[in-house]
Amino acid sequence: MYDALTTRYTFACPSREEAAVPLSSFRRLERLEGTGHPVVYCVRFDCPCGEEHPGLVSHDDLDWAPLGLRDETTFLNLMTSRIEATSVELGELAATRIKAGEWPWSFFCWPEERPRPVYPSAFTLLAPAASGDRVGLAVRCPVCGKVSVNVVSRAHVDVPFVNDREVGVVEHVFERDAAASVEEFRAELWSESFDARRLGLE
Ligand SMILES: [Zn+2]
Ligand SMILES: [Zn+2]
Repeated sequence: MYDALTTRYTFACPSREEAAVPLSSFRRLERLEGTGHPVVYCVRFDCPCGEEHPGLVSHDDLDWAPLGLRDETTFLNLMTSRIEATSVELGELAATRIKAGEWPWSFFCWPEERPRPVYPSAFTLLAPAASGDRVGLAVRCPVCGKVSVNVVSRAHVDVPFVNDREVGVVEHVFERDAAASVEEFRAELWSESFDARRLGLE
């Protein structure tokens, strides 16, 4: 489902059977009602075939697999030509970095005027800019519960521990975030002006 080496998720595609996409190709994430063990997220993603498709991701795959905290993650070791588990190594590395005060993902909470650490399951809507590397990202703050919209690089979303030093912050709380369609979000987002805020810990 999630490949830690390519940082991509694999989903079914009706025209190409399978599509591997990064987190920044997700357009909407919603917790699937009635799921508990495990919690499952219903996502819509932008497929390389040009269409948008639905897919399901478990909470583990969404938040923990990118940090290597899962058992099935294996890789082909080119030195020994053996399949080896990366999970322990990656997981320990992630734990060490988090203890040192590094955040795998972060965003700037506009109502609270401060950066916060976050996991991808807090992302609700994503919309890419018409050109370039920027992505509009709606995040439900795990602390205050409000939705903030940041404008970030794709790597900020896709690669754990890669955080933009500065992000764009839309000075507006999207009231209807849960109900808004991706199209509405996209139109509203790129019509807003946004200010730069530092995401540093200091
Ligand atoms: Zn497709
Ligand atoms: Zn907050």
